[in-house]
Amino acid sequence: MSSAACSQDYSFGPHTIHASEVFVESTLSFAFVNLKPVVPGHVLISPKRVVPRFAALSADEVADLWVLAQRVGAAVEPHFGATSLTLTIQDGEQAGQSVPHVHVHCLPRRAGDFEKNDEVYDAIDEHTRMHRPGERLDLDAERRVRTRAEMAAEAGALRKLF
Ligand code: AMP
Repeated sequence: MSSAACSQDYSFGPHTIHASEVFVESTLSFAFVNLKPVVPGHVLISPKRVVPRFAALSADEVADLWVLAQRVGAAVEPHFGATSLTLTIQDGEQAGQSVPHVHVHCLPRRAGDFEKNDEVYDAIDEHTRMHRPGERLDLDAERRVRTRAEMAAEAGALRKLF
């Protein structure tokens, strides 16, 4: 689709993602801004169908999801002044999934954003975060809940990239 505003809301598990928070969509997938980004530009890509686990997606949905994730990554990396990407799925509760609707996390990465590279996975994982209070990683500083207006503003800027 073009840079015109997305016209419809989508379900994200039990949550509603408002059209104003969606910045690009494809036939079977949509990309949207994050309520609590771990790093600047941490966005999510989901299938339009509410499917909790990756294995339950059709081959067409898998292909469509990852092609859109590839497009999104290529756009957000330079937009946020990054030089790499983390693209990951937490598939199932024990893997850290907190929203039962498949989603690819896309995080623009830059030198020194985490002291140890793999700490990005602790940051993404809500459960690890909650069980490691007071540790050196000050994850909540970056990770406050954003307002709908802030999210809509970011989605509006990202929409122009597509
Ligand atoms: P996971 O823990 O892998 O299931 O990731 C869930 C992601 O969804 C986290 O990055 C949350 O910040 C994000 N999230 C949760 N609720 C919303 C929402 N209503 N809108 C946008 N992002 C959300």
